[in-house]
Amino acid sequence: MSGSLFALVRSRIPSLGKPLIETPDGTRISYGDMLARTGRLANALVRRGVKPGDRVAVQVEKSAENLMLFLAVVRAGAVYLPLNTAYTTHEVEYFVGDAEPRLLVCDPARRDALTPVAARHGAVVETLDATGRGSLAELAAAAPEAFEDVGRAADDLACILYTSGTTGRSKGAMLTQRNLGSNADTLVGYWRFTATDVLLHALPIYHTHGLFTAAMTLMLAGGSMLWLPKFDADQVISLLPRATTLMGVPTHYVRLLQHPGLTREATAHMRLFTSGSAPLLAETHEAFKARTGQAILERYGMTETGMNTSNPYDGERIAGTVGFPLPDIAVRVADPESGAVLPADEIGVLEVKGPNVFAGYWRMPEKTQTEFRPDGFFITGDVGKIDARGYVHIVGRAKDLIISGGFNVYPKEVESEIDLLPGVVESAVVGCPHPDFGEGVTAVVVRTPGATVTEAEILAALDGRLAKFKQPKRVLFVDELPRNTMGKVQKNVLREQNKGLYA
Ligand code: AMP
Repeated sequence: MSGSLFALVRSRIPSLGKPLIETPDGTRISYGDMLARTGRLANALVRRGVKPGDRVAVQVEKSAENLMLFLAVVRAGAVYLPLNTAYTTHEVEYFVGDAEPRLLVCDPARRDALTPVAARHGAVVETLDATGRGSLAELAAAAPEAFEDVGRAADDLACILYTSGTTGRSKGAMLTQRNLGSNADTLVGYWRFTATDVLLHALPIYHTHGLFTAAMTLMLAGGSMLWLPKFDADQVISLLPRATTLMGVPTHYVRLLQHPGLTREATAHMRLFTSGSAPLLAETHEAFKARTGQAILERYGMTETGMNTSNPYDGERIAGTVGFPLPDIAVRVADPESGAVLPADEIGVLEVKGPNVFAGYWRMPEKTQTEFRPDGFFITGDVGKIDARGYVHIVGRAKDLIISGGFNVYPKEVESEIDLLPGVVESAVVGCPHPDFGEGVTAVVVRTPGATVTEAEILAALDGRLAKFKQPKRVLFVDELPRNTMGKVQKNVLREQNKGLYA
């Protein structure tokens, strides 16, 4: 029996006439159109020499055709490799050199810059723009609709997603047909998706959140998507009455809260708002609930694993936690060095095992080995705990841990104290090189508009609330924290900007 992801998608098609995607400009792609378009695209890929198992690297703007291309690649048995549109030519060269794709699909505007890059690594280039036009679309238009799906085994690769690489080189996470199918299917059940759902899709699709958690889950439920090129608060608010669910990153919810159109009435038709990819402030959760009556459901996942945990659909959604392990997925907390499993409420590294866990890093067998325990658990690098009720809490990334004067300081603990102070919107705490302490605890703070709270006041407020070694040596103020598109605070940027602070 085929274990292929496309076979699974095909098996869930509710009816050929049912809309899969609608875009604000009026483009409507039904499930039947999807079969026709992916058939033509798959034929075009084969004509360009793509064979089962070959990688197809794709750096294009989000469009409906971009989703069709992803589906066509897996339908043809090839391996989809999406790239962030922000990557420079130099960065793309690293991925192309590492993954050795047969085909590189890029925006027409980048064709000249990327053709020599592709040629150096044996790839050919085709183009696709934000409106779905380009040389690949032309090839597809001339190709037949009929395409025989290429069967794949459950353990065959479907995608390679490069991690954001905030430390060291970006690594290609190899995701199998089973990884992607099982995780999306679990979410269909856990989050109660049905064919009546309409997802407001405003996430990028070069990342696991938008492509798998959102789009794949919707397709396995046989639902529909309102497909936005990017998150725009005005547009999202105006479309809420036509949707049933929204999946966002925390920054999206912060922006919606700043919009006067976010009301109880505007969200009355919505059954589910989810948040992930970065921590949602408890304050945002509460403000959203007060405004709309809706409790945002926070969940936790990563490129290598897809979704691991989720707050419950029916039970209590607790702000500041990421909920329970999903069905069939085991999550535990271990001592980072010894690997000993820790009891409830103790902080350690989160480890995960299940059908969602990736097959390893592309061409990095040694690196892969060091990230797994002998019993098959993947060491996520996230630091957290599981409380007595079974809710998982994330405290931060292991690499963000600060060691000051030989003591471990978890940034989240310091940030939580600072965030409670009047005049503070949010904070990020990082370790910067310090001649005496190794690392100096450094707080970077965003003030509420008009607030005048000073460094001395913050330090005075923390004295007595935090042990001396956890107290920041310096408090710096910024207008906003540096974040990537998925809303993650880029602590590496803060460390780099302030590396000379204590010199
Ligand atoms: P990525 O591979 O880009 O999806 O990033 C995964 C990382 O994002 C995880 O390892 C966590 O550090 C972080 N993350 C994802 N969801 C959450 C969440 N709900 N709360 C806190 N951190 C999260």
